[in-house]
Amino acid sequence: MNYRDYIDLSREELLEKVATAMSEKRFRHVLGVEQAALDLAERYGCDATKASLAALLHDYAKEVADEVFLALIDQKDLDPDLKKWGNNIWHGLVGAHLIAADFGLVDPEIFQAIQRHTVGASQMTLLDKVLYVADYIEPGRDFPGVTEARIIASQSLDQAVAFETAQTIAHLAKKGIPIYPQTLETYNGYVRFLKENK
Ligand code: GDP
Ligand code: FE
Ligand code: FE
Repeated sequence: MNYRDYIDLSREELLEKVATAMSEKRFRHVLGVEQAALDLAERYGCDATKASLAALLHDYAKEVADEVFLALIDQKDLDPDLKKWGNNIWHGLVGAHLIAADFGLVDPEIFQAIQRHTVGASQMTLLDKVLYVADYIEPGRDFPGVTEARIIASQSLDQAVAFETAQTIAHLAKKGIPIYPQTLETYNGYVRFLKENK
């Protein structure tokens, strides 16, 4: 894979830099997401280089300290309400800015897919959906519903987005964890979309 259109690193250099930023376990997850993203990209006609790069970078900010995100929210003039949330929400939405800076990544599509990988959006691009779903179904994932999610993803990417979002919201609600408004927008958007496209 040649990333030179997007970043000034070879694949080897990129993998090294990503691996250094996280635990071995998380790095294995990242490689699994890349594999799943490439499968989905081929099935649904998404650019493989962009899918690979978005997958390899998506959790780069996951082990970054809270103070860094809080400072970035001010620096980048992001919605101050973001400060009430935590790493789970920040590592994509805010982390994308850190990734852009650390890797010299300027491609807006890859940037957006990374931003949306946890919470989604009511309308997503093909690349957004590929990363969002790949993150959920990568081969290393093992949780109730993942087999069904993989089957759905092999049939319809939009159905897979809807299924994943509903599962995530149900899981968070059951545990009494607050749901980020954009996650609810994703849910509403895809439930509506599927109803209209039956
Ligand atoms: P990961 O980074 O590969 O573990 O996966 P994600 O980036 O998709 O999700 C990170 C964490 O955020 C998971 O534990 C999700 O359940 C959680 N998450 C997803 N949506 C929301 C939300 O709306 N609110 C909260 N509080 N957590 C969420
Ligand atoms: Fe993530
Ligand atoms: Fe992930």
